[in-house]
Amino acid sequence: MSFPVATAAEVVSAIQREGLLNAGLPPVSAALQNHSGELARFRSLESEKATGDLYPDAQFAKYRDMSGLLARIPTVYQNPFVYAWLEDFWAHHSAAVYRQADQPPPRFLMASAATGQFNANAISGSDQSAILIEDGLIFFAHRAAYIVSPLLFRRIDGNRFVATGLPEDLGPSSPLYLASLEVAQLVLDYLLEGAVPGVPPIARTEADDFSIRHVIFTSLMSFVFEHELHHLREAREAGQEISIRKKVAQERFDALWRFVEKAFEGESRVEFDQVRMERLFHAHSEEHFADLRALLSVIHIGRESGTLVPAIDGALLFFFLADALNHAHRTIADPEAYRAMDGMNDVGLVLNGLVLEESHPYAHMRLKSLLENQEAFSPSLLNLLAQEAGKLKGFFDTVKEILTKAIEEHEFQIGDLHPKWCFDARRLLGLDPA
Ligand SMILES: [Zn+2]
Repeated sequence: MSFPVATAAEVVSAIQREGLLNAGLPPVSAALQNHSGELARFRSLESEKATGDLYPDAQFAKYRDMSGLLARIPTVYQNPFVYAWLEDFWAHHSAAVYRQADQPPPRFLMASAATGQFNANAISGSDQSAILIEDGLIFFAHRAAYIVSPLLFRRIDGNRFVATGLPEDLGPSSPLYLASLEVAQLVLDYLLEGAVPGVPPIARTEADDFSIRHVIFTSLMSFVFEHELHHLREAREAGQEISIRKKVAQERFDALWRFVEKAFEGESRVEFDQVRMERLFHAHSEEHFADLRALLSVIHIGRESGTLVPAIDGALLFFFLADALNHAHRTIADPEAYRAMDGMNDVGLVLNGLVLEESHPYAHMRLKSLLENQEAFSPSLLNLLAQEAGKLKGFFDTVKEILTKAIEEHEFQIGDLHPKWCFDARRLLGLDPA
C-alpha cells in the first residue's frame, strides 16, 4: 500500500482501519452505545466483535463533552478517549517546550492506531503532517511509570521527594521484586492482549507520590513526541546541518562495509545487500539523532520546571520498556534467533539490525549511543544519565528474568501474541515494502 498523494487524515484513517481489522477489531465500549454515530462507525467495519468493551473502565466521558469530542476527532476510526488524552497531553507539552521558544509549536494531526510498534510514527500527508501513536503505548507506559516511580523516589515531606538508589532487598516479598512482577505482567498483557487492562489507578495509597509518577510518565510521552517531531522537521530540513549528519553517517557506513568485506572475505555474502543496508544505516542514524533531540527537549522541560531527574527517568524508561517488550516478543516468537544475539558485540548488533531490516536500532543500542554522547552532554549530565540508567537497568534485568521464566513455563508461542505484533507494519504504514 502506498499513499503518494493522500492527505494526512486519509493516510491515518487507512492505517487505523487496517490496524483494527488486523487486530480483529477492538470491541466497542458500553459507554459508546449512547453515541450512535460512533457505534455506527465501528459497526461499519462489519465485525461481529463490535459490541464488547473498549476500555471498559474509561472515565473520560465523565469530564468530556462527547459530542464536542466526536466533532474534533480526525478520522472515523480514531478512538475518541485516546484522542481526548492526546489533546490534553499536547496542550501541556507544547506549553512547556514552545512557550519561550522562538519557533511556534508545530502543527500536525494527532492520532492513534494498532500499529504494533512501540513508538509513534511521523507521517507526511499532502496537506499536513501527522503523528500516529501505537494505541496501547499510552496506558502501558502510564502503568509502568506508576509502578517504577516509588523505587526511584522517596517522599521526604509534603510534596518533596528525593531520588534514591534501588532498594537492596530482592526477596520474594520485597517492593522491588513485586514491582518487577507487576511490570513483567504488563509486558505480557501488552504482547498477548494488545493492551494493558483498564485504566490505571490514580494512586493506591495516600503516600503515593502522584506528582513524581506523573512527571515520569509525561516525560516518557514527551520523549516519544519530540522524537517524531524530529522526523517531521528532518523531512523539511535542508542545508548544511543535514548534509554534515549525512556525511558522518556515510563515513561510518563505509567503515562498517569495509569491515564486512574483510570479515566475510571469500564467504557468501548473500544476506548483505550493500545498497539496502546503506539506506537503512542512514535511517538508523537519524533514529539516533531523533533520540538525542528528544532527550534534549525533555531535559529542557525538566530544568525549566525543576524536575530534571524524574524527567530524565521518564525518557530513559522508554528505552527500558522497549527493550523488555523486545526481549519478551523475541523469546516468544523466535527464541533461537534471539539467543544467537547473546554474544554479539556492538558491530554484530548493528549488522544484525541491518540484515534483519529492523525499523530502528535495538533499544539498548539507542540508549548506549545517548549515554556515550560526549559532544551533546556535559560530564555532569552524562554522570546523571548513567546513574539513572543504571538504576533502571538493575530493575529491568529482574523484569526480563521473570519474563523469560514465565514464557518458558507457560510455553507461549508466536500464535499467542496479539495480532498487532505480527503485523507487517511497513505495509500498514505504507512504507517501502521491499
Ligand atoms: Zn524514529
